[in-house]
Amino acid sequence: MLSVNKVQTGPSFKSLQNCKAIKMIPNITCACCGQKVINPESADKAWAAVTKPISSVLKKGDFNQWKDFPKIMAVLKSFSERFAGASLDRIIATSDNYLELRDAVFSDVTELGIKDSREPDPHMIAKKQIYYLQNASRNSLRSSSVVMERFEIFKDKLHGCKKEIFEQFQIYAKKYPRKSLSEIINMDDIYKFHAMKNILQRAESREKLDYHFSNIKEMILQKRPELSEKTDELKEQALEIYAHGNDTQMHLAKMKKLYEEVLKENGIENLKWKVFDELEKIPKTFTTVDSFMVYAKKHNFSDGAIISSLITPSMSSYEHIIPKSAEGEDKYSNGLVLCRECNQNRASIPYSEYIDYHPEMAFNTQKQINMISEFILAGKLPPEFDFYPVKTAKTLYYHSGGKICINVEPYCKKALEKSIKKLNEKSEELNIAKTSRDSSIKKKLNLQNEIKNVEQDIEDLNDKVKTLISETKYEQVLQTSIESYLKKRE
Ligand SMILES: [Zn+2]
Repeated sequence: MLSVNKVQTGPSFKSLQNCKAIKMIPNITCACCGQKVINPESADKAWAAVTKPISSVLKKGDFNQWKDFPKIMAVLKSFSERFAGASLDRIIATSDNYLELRDAVFSDVTELGIKDSREPDPHMIAKKQIYYLQNASRNSLRSSSVVMERFEIFKDKLHGCKKEIFEQFQIYAKKYPRKSLSEIINMDDIYKFHAMKNILQRAESREKLDYHFSNIKEMILQKRPELSEKTDELKEQALEIYAHGNDTQMHLAKMKKLYEEVLKENGIENLKWKVFDELEKIPKTFTTVDSFMVYAKKHNFSDGAIISSLITPSMSSYEHIIPKSAEGEDKYSNGLVLCRECNQNRASIPYSEYIDYHPEMAFNTQKQINMISEFILAGKLPPEFDFYPVKTAKTLYYHSGGKICINVEPYCKKALEKSIKKLNEKSEELNIAKTSRDSSIKKKLNLQNEIKNVEQDIEDLNDKVKTLISETKYEQVLQTSIESYLKKRE
């Protein structure tokens, strides 16, 4: 059993705050897929506008599931008294409130001995309970027209067919503005329409799969007629991979590898490219609007679950470059912004391997680091981020075995120029302070403090410049500029 202490030390809250600054950069794109991500704060605002206030949710009994959890209920009641008009989502967006709820949930979970067959760690069970609480507070949404209007701002950031599903809901919301989203998917006509189309699509994709795999079989049998049984077996294995994949690139690569090995074993390796061509033609396992509608109705999706499943894949998350399981640190220089979908697909696969399936990542990571660099240079991030681009580029380089090589030279040059300019200004300030002749004692004291401050600033800036130099591989260029600067100063 975990001690309460462990939860309190938990994930370093300071580091979470750090990540937040990067996640909040407007229109930042995912380092892997390159698509725009949704920042959690604006999503929270949208949720808060459509979910009902905590007081009415409590009265309606939407939190009844937790009535036997004394500490959770006490905190919810206290929230409801303190912030009656706000939704739970909005309330726990404030870190103090979040910690208050988290401690109550953890304490109830450990004291009541809540068990989860798939999750033995009470810390994780508590985390899940908070997630359920959030969902329960989101389930009391308003009419579809209000909801769709609220979430409209995220439409262009939705991934793949999620955007099409969103547009379908927009059409329905215009037609039935007063009904909620879950009422709409349960309407008889609407369900029948999508279910019918879904059946047709499935039959069609089944046909396509059979067609491509029989082409592959034919190719192999022409060379090795004795491999008939083996190719059927291969098809089954490939279908298994195909069915379980939500990362198309990765699963396609796995299927290719499967065939490649067998072709090699049988001395028909030259067939490889033809087989690969055929595998590439297999329709991707993307959800369609129709399959989503059918699935959502079958699983009794609430309004919250519908909206959540559309926007969650695009939400920004701060991903550990070196996974925690591989002793990656909880530091910002070990992090990149990834959409949740990519974060989930990547899991703990090292980047040296992941990039083989997602070669676009090199470009998209550079794009993200450029964006962050611009933000740092514009002074829009706290000073502790000054070394972010250089340090992160280093982490990426080593962790990917040299496969991800981010160019930070332009950033370093600009950052150095900026620091030198500041250094000059500070030196000038210092000179003015030192040469000023003011007789009043009070002012003299201030002056001495001022001189000390400026001297400290200069020292800090010098350190920064030195670190910038040592952190980059462009030492030569930088060394000359710093030397000429120092000469000028003397
Ligand atoms: Zn992504």
